[in-house]
Amino acid sequence: MKTTRHPLLSTYVGTAREIVSFHYGSGRAGQKIYIQASLHADELPGMLVAHHLRQKLAVLEAAGKIAGEIVVVPVANPVGLGQNLLRTQIGRFELATGENFNRHYPAMYPSITAHLDGKLGSDIDANRDAIRAAMHQVLDATTVATELDSMRLTLMRLACDADVTLDLHCDSDAVLHLYTGTPMWPQCEPLARYLGAYATLLATESGDNPFDEACSQTWWQLEEHYRGNFPVPMACLSVTVELRGQGDVSHVQAAADADNIIAFLTWRGVIDGAAPPLPELKYPATPLAGSAAIASPVSGVVAFLRRPGEWIGAGEAIGEVINPLTDEVHTLTSETDGVLYALENRYFATAGMRLAKVAGARAFRTGKLLSA
Ligand SMILES: [Zn+2]
Repeated sequence: MKTTRHPLLSTYVGTAREIVSFHYGSGRAGQKIYIQASLHADELPGMLVAHHLRQKLAVLEAAGKIAGEIVVVPVANPVGLGQNLLRTQIGRFELATGENFNRHYPAMYPSITAHLDGKLGSDIDANRDAIRAAMHQVLDATTVATELDSMRLTLMRLACDADVTLDLHCDSDAVLHLYTGTPMWPQCEPLARYLGAYATLLATESGDNPFDEACSQTWWQLEEHYRGNFPVPMACLSVTVELRGQGDVSHVQAAADADNIIAFLTWRGVIDGAAPPLPELKYPATPLAGSAAIASPVSGVVAFLRRPGEWIGAGEAIGEVINPLTDEVHTLTSETDGVLYALENRYFATAGMRLAKVAGARAFRTGKLLSA
């Protein structure tokens, strides 16, 4: 195992932070896998999964069972970890700018095409390698001025040439679910099975370039750009893994999640051995544009009637918002059938607040598809 430290540019004199990456491998050629945790710094189940994963990878490496390289970044966001305000950790947005830590990753298309002139041919594997080299050229030419942008660039450099990137997040109160690029679903389906995902939300353009999309989107954009001339593979399966809710931090669950990730990597041939049989897929993938956010039009105290993981029929009650001064009760219902995959974990609703998410099969939303 090799440890690499990546100093971040400092926004403020007298301060210094770094990203630390751990690199496992036997030295044999193979795929590159990149796994990072807690990009939203107050989402900690993934950090514990990374801890368990590292113990297991150390054993596999000592036994010479890892082909290629597996990179683990257990603390993807040291900036957010340091944002504590009156006993509350602010891990989703940078306090200085209000920017979401999982948005605004570098978009490499179309500038990457200038680096590919005369470099592509009929060999799809050679094209993959040329595109990965060009990605590094684009990122090397990117200049940044702030610690936040330096962090984004550092993570992209570590991940952009991987065959698989897993970005370990969690929701507020949720069952395990995934986000990935629509063209990546065939590659993602075994991961959804091994992890026991209740929903996989697919999009080609979620809006504002979240990390997972920045890693994979360039491939389908280039495939379309060069279609009919040069073959381009879908060479980076990039997935945001939502490891349930913020309170779901336990050794038993984290060790099981780490085992399931290793089962998937064994299935992909990165780790030697027989992969466990593929479990049944719990639910088919659905469009991110079909995910319904159920908002409360009124303020009040929230009492949920259903739990994440339950199937909700259109019109069924999910919860109630109660005005304790008038005793008026507003019932929250879903307009779509689907899996209730996440609930808010704050129980005082302000008017307009989104309280529940249901994965519907029919796309109906347009524009930016992710919440703030
Ligand atoms: Zn997150």
